[in-house]
Amino acid sequence: MNKTIAVIPGDGIGPEIMTATLRVLDALDCGLTYDFVDAGMVALDKHGDLLPKATLDRIAEHKVALKGPLTTPIGGGFTSVNVTLRRLFDLYANVRPAVSFPGTKSRYENIDIITVRENTEGAYRSEGQTLSEDGEIAESVARNTRKGSSRIVRYAFELAVKKGRKKVTAVHKANILKTSSGLFLNVAREIAREYPQIEFNEMIVDNTCMQLVMKPEQFDVIVTTNLFGDILSDLCAGLVGGLGLAPGDNIGEHAAIFEAVHGSAPDIAGKGIANPCALLLAAADMLDYLDMVAKGDRLRQAIRDTMTSDRDSVTPDIGGKGSTDSFADAIVKRIKG
Ligand code: NAD
Repeated sequence: MNKTIAVIPGDGIGPEIMTATLRVLDALDCGLTYDFVDAGMVALDKHGDLLPKATLDRIAEHKVALKGPLTTPIGGGFTSVNVTLRRLFDLYANVRPAVSFPGTKSRYENIDIITVRENTEGAYRSEGQTLSEDGEIAESVARNTRKGSSRIVRYAFELAVKKGRKKVTAVHKANILKTSSGLFLNVAREIAREYPQIEFNEMIVDNTCMQLVMKPEQFDVIVTTNLFGDILSDLCAGLVGGLGLAPGDNIGEHAAIFEAVHGSAPDIAGKGIANPCALLLAAADMLDYLDMVAKGDRLRQAIRDTMTSDRDSVTPDIGGKGSTDSFADAIVKRIKG
């Protein structure tokens, strides 16, 4: 395959983990060409803009981007680049797999849950957030649409079919939020009927939090609205040992951006000890998306094998003595060997 992707190295540890990730992708011989573009603090310094138009044009041209974490400057009226990218490219599905890896400190050992979060509407719209003039009354309008609910639920079921998953759980709060969450649940029930081969289950969000902590093995694919998905996907990441192993895929009709869920980790930037796994796992998801599923699986297996048998090479955050480079080297060796 010959494909050019946009690559945003990002801020803080971004360039370190991106270099490691691209080295591993090269070892997999994916036929990818990288078009490096700026966003975040680097872009602000170089071009006076956190998200230059040239960057947007190149993402639109290549349709697929691999993105390092970006620092959002505090104050100064800056909007999050991540939120802007989701909005501009209508990246409506935020897909976050949470999978147990050997040797990580976590409560459970066999977690394999994919959260599919609606990424563009619900409680996270910038419109409808108001504060009265006297500062006494704050309002936040949650707005779900039939179209938005349909496409995210359908995405979850199609993903379940494609990945051979058995069950989709729609998470809601329709007992209280009768309109916004009610619409989502009704649409989920309707669409579920089109997929009789996949078990459908519905669960109220507060109970879901408890069930995830007590009996996570009952979950397979979770589909939910924006705010609940934001919270539940971090809960799932916590079940498998934290954000260092959590990829996040942002998928739309016309573009897709793959990233690590964690941020730019300024406290360890430049020290060479950042864990590249979350971005590597995002890259594996990108390979699936580009119809290179066998290579994506090979990458995931190489990460798993390295974490099982080459503990010295892995980074300190998951109990190793290694560096970003030694971790990437060990994965490359397994891919090539
Ligand atoms: P963070 O995820 O950057 O860091 C939290 C903690 O986890 C830190 O102690 C850090 O050292 C550690 N950590 C994170 N990634 C790691 C890795 N790969 N390997 C080892 N340790 C790792 O969260 P934060 O400190 O709240 O945010 C820092 C900046 O990142 C902020 O400007 C925030 O806006 C931004 N951010 C960006 C994204 C994104 O681009 N998707 C996501 C979250 C935060």
